[in-house]
Amino acid sequence: MTRTVKVGPLSVGGGAPVSVQTMYDIPLSKLEERFDSRMAVLKAMGCDMIRFSYPDIAEHDALCEVVRRCPMPVVADIHFDWRNALDAMDCGVAKIRINPGNIGEKWKTEEIVRKASDKGVAIRIGLNSGSLPQKGREKGTVSLMVDTALEYISWFENLGFCNTVVSLKASDSELSYEAAREFASKSDYPLHLGVTEAGGVVSSCVRSTWTLGRLLSQGIGSTIRYSITGSIEDEVQAGAELLRTLGLRRGGMKIVSCPMCGRCSFNSQGFLKEVEHELLATGKDMCVAIMGCQVNGPGEAKGADIAVTGIGNKVFLYRNGEIYREISADEAREELLKAVSDFGK
Ligand code: SF4
Repeated sequence: MTRTVKVGPLSVGGGAPVSVQTMYDIPLSKLEERFDSRMAVLKAMGCDMIRFSYPDIAEHDALCEVVRRCPMPVVADIHFDWRNALDAMDCGVAKIRINPGNIGEKWKTEEIVRKASDKGVAIRIGLNSGSLPQKGREKGTVSLMVDTALEYISWFENLGFCNTVVSLKASDSELSYEAAREFASKSDYPLHLGVTEAGGVVSSCVRSTWTLGRLLSQGIGSTIRYSITGSIEDEVQAGAELLRTLGLRRGGMKIVSCPMCGRCSFNSQGFLKEVEHELLATGKDMCVAIMGCQVNGPGEAKGADIAVTGIGNKVFLYRNGEIYREISADEAREELLKAVSDFGK
């Protein structure tokens, strides 16, 4: 088992539940009006921690505001300028993510570590295969990543700092996998797992699930992120879904839906697109089925808490496994969301 790292109120490693992370996709200077509702939705979908780029201390006030309003621990992502890390800690972030290799002289990283120690802030040493030191390349990328992380850890430990998480990411799935395995065999610091720059929803989900799933099944990994060229809501959904599939997370919204085919009398494909994020955002612990026809519709509807399914030429709403009433396809969205909202009341 790894040691435990505290990220604000959240425990990482040491037997704590594996957490899901994402990274905000908008600059701090352009915080959206829907920021609060979006954070609430991400949290309900299963996000435990969220990272923000902090490239400029001109955004000090915005970062303070984010920390104040965010319902999850906030992580500041720092590259190059060590002073941004110090400033982010003054804003109240729970964790700093740095790659000491691009911070410059060692004393600059040490200043960050000293302040993190004073403030009880965690640090993630985030190494990417694309930005490794020139020295030691002959030993191969995996060993170079692991040895580099261990060297940075020793800098931190020499200052008495152990509140450290490590990530060793690469866009190559096997490299990410091997680096995490080798690190876990040599260190008891918790790992944040991810395959970086993994492409769009389909490629990222395949590459990340294959890589992260194998590691998590071996007990390796304390936090995860799906890196998707797409929405951060998709990243959180994928992360939470993987943990549930592996039995590492319980509860939450389970959606059962058919792929649709020529037999359908209800457009399950289009309908799921319309309602999926809204269902996940309820944060409810229940099962919803969305099915196209009578071949598998009634069966799945019986096993779900709420369902919408086509049967013959008609569409039916089910509650608790029983037909509740016939509805039109046009009113399906409203009826389903109402039934979900009423569930458990
Ligand atoms: S439930 Fe019906 S519409 Fe959906 S995939 Fe199965 S046969 Fe096709």
